[in-house]
Order: sequence, then C-alpha cells, then structure tokens
Amino acid sequence: MTNAIVCQGCGVKIQTEYPDQPGYAPASALEREEVICKRCFRLKNYNEVQDVPYQDDDFLQMLHQISETDSLIVNLIDIFDFNGSFIPGLARLTGNNPILLVGNKMDVLPKSVNHNKVRQWLRRSCKELGMKVEDVQLISAAKGQGIEELSAAIDRMRKGRDVYIVGTTNVGKSTFINRLISRTHGVEDAITTSYFPGTTLGFIDIPLDEESSLFDTPGVIHRHQIAHYVSDNDLKRITPKKEIKPMVFQLNDKQTLFLGGLVRMDFEEGERSSFICYVSNDLSIHRTKLENADNLYNNHIGELLSPPDETTLERLPEWKTTSFRIENHKTDIVISGLGWITVPEGSVSVTIHAPQGVKVSLRESLI
Ligand code: GDP
Repeated sequence: MTNAIVCQGCGVKIQTEYPDQPGYAPASALEREEVICKRCFRLKNYNEVQDVPYQDDDFLQMLHQISETDSLIVNLIDIFDFNGSFIPGLARLTGNNPILLVGNKMDVLPKSVNHNKVRQWLRRSCKELGMKVEDVQLISAAKGQGIEELSAAIDRMRKGRDVYIVGTTNVGKSTFINRLISRTHGVEDAITTSYFPGTTLGFIDIPLDEESSLFDTPGVIHRHQIAHYVSDNDLKRITPKKEIKPMVFQLNDKQTLFLGGLVRMDFEEGERSSFICYVSNDLSIHRTKLENADNLYNNHIGELLSPPDETTLERLPEWKTTSFRIENHKTDIVISGLGWITVPEGSVSVTIHAPQGVKVSLRESLI
C-alpha cells in the first residue's frame, strides 16, 4: 500500500496538477482532514456530475489487477438491465477466482416473479455468455432486501480471502457498498452514490477482519447502456425506482407502440395479441396505427412522446431498426436499460426502432 492521499468520496488517488483529470483537488484542500476530489466535491455540493475521462479499456485494465490475487469476486448486475450490466471476459480478467453473482434491484420486479426462476435465468444467461458462477443471490441494495443472506454467502465463500466487488456503472454498487459500510461501521454515505454513470473511481478498501478486506472497484462503463445517451432528468424517469406495473396492450397487426419517444415497436404481422410492457412507471406509452407512426413521431417527439427532453435529443444516436419473428415460446424483447416487452407465443413479426448502440435482444420470457 502506498501513502498516496485518496479521495474520501470515491477512492481515486488525489492529484493537484491537472484540473481536468481524475482525482484533482486544489493544493489548499490537502490541509483538510478529509480530502475529496473536485468531482466528488461538485457532486456533493452542487449535485452535478462531471464527465469521466476514463475509457472502457482503462477500467478493464484496473480489473485485471485482480487476476493476481486469490480472492472472491462479487459481481453485481442490474436485474433490470442484465445485458447492459454483464461484463464480457470478467472470469478471464479476474484470473478465474470464484464468482458470486448478485442480481440487484429486485424490488423493481413485479411481486409475482418467482425468485428461483430469476436465479436460474441469471445462472443460465451467464453460462451462455461463457461465465461460470458459483452462486447467485438477489438483493435490493436500496431497500436492504437480501443483504443478510448475501453477507452470509460472502462469508461462507470467501474462506478468509479478500473480496472484490465489481460491476458496471449504474448497477447500484455504491448503494450496496454504503449499506455494507453502514452495517459494519455505522457510517452513512461513506462513498458517493448517484443516478449518474461513472461516479465510483479507484479501489475503496473496507476491512473485513484483521487479515482481509473488501474492495470496491471502479464501475466499468458500457457504452451500450442507454444511461450514457440520456440527460440526467431522463435517466431518472427511465430508471425504475419501485415495483414495475406491467402495462398490457391488445394489439392488432399494423399497430405501433412508442415507449416515450425513445423506442418504437411496430407489430408487423400476426394475430391480435397482448403485448406486456415492463418499463419504468414514469415512462409513458403510446399506441397508434403503424401508418400514423412517422407523423406522430415527427410532430410530438419531446412533448407527447417523452422522454427524450431537449438535452437527450441532442445526444441521442439515430434509431436503428431490428426485425424479429417470434414463434413457439412466450418471448421478452429486451431493450438494454429501458426494460422489456413480452410477446405472447404464436407467430408474430415485430420491428424495434431503438437508438443505435442500445442493445436489443430476445430471451425466453422471465415472467
Ligand atoms: P453505481 O453506479 O453502480 O455505484 O450505482 P448507484 O449506487 O449510484 O445507483 C445507480 C442508480 O440505481 C441510482 O439511481 C440508485 O438509486 C438506483 N439503485 C441502486 N440500488 C437500487 C435498488 O436496489 N433498487 C432500485 N430500485 N434502485 C436502485
């Protein structure tokens, strides 16, 4: 361990030379007992987040340091955005240390969801993507659900070793770590939490006992998380904060659904069917005839069809269309970070229009 001064907000190494680089604090700040970097200072005092000049590769490089250790990896993912929060190559990057997968934000899933089914789905999805996990736990860091069970699982699995908490930005890692800290040390808000991607930098060391520690690692930024394309206000609207109320739409073919003005689904062909939308309750959904969809969009984007607000509209990439033909199984069309639409079994053709870079994928229905 070096004697470098680290930010008490996010753990990044403090430097006093480059105001636009991570970890900057004015030299005068070093005299204070608790030094925080400029970024955390602004976040704390002005609720304002600065862009992080780290690139995805730097984060992965930092994660790679874990491969040199003998430890337990706790990988936090967002149940609501599995694709956006899965880290490809994590097992390799962390040197094949055992991985405990934690699905966070379980409070947003409808109560009717079977937790065992979610656990199995998470385990299966990881396996399909080449990552073997030793155990899967579900929690709500915000509500404090499942934390006791998770702590017990960590203690059981770490066998005296260090623990590294890893996750992409926005999965709720800061919220989770804060909870752990307040459980063990009774300190509230020891690190930064926020809506905004990229607010956790550097490794934060939380002692577990005399010999071992729990380390909070930087959040990996994934460009295809929709969070990176929308304004702070819109991010608040599309991020579900409580149990999602599924919205059911009986559609005939040649009808269109708009999820705000961010995503559009055209029901091209098939019998009259019910489509169920699982998105934030604050995102309004509009139905129209396919032939009127372009007009509705052109005349009402940013108003009736909102979000996007003006800031998001400036940033949002062009729509990319993807067509699916769904047969046999009840299927979820997942729009990374925004939610999913469940399509009934039968023969159905749909086209999804979503901002370029935001991943759209299919999975067997979760519910
Ligand atoms: P980080 O970037 O991974 O450190 O994520 P944060 O802890 O800053 O959380 C990102 C967003 O997710 C914030 O808006 C949190 O309020 C929200 N969040 C975190 N944990 C939960 C949870 O268990 N349930 C819900 N509904 N939201 C959560």
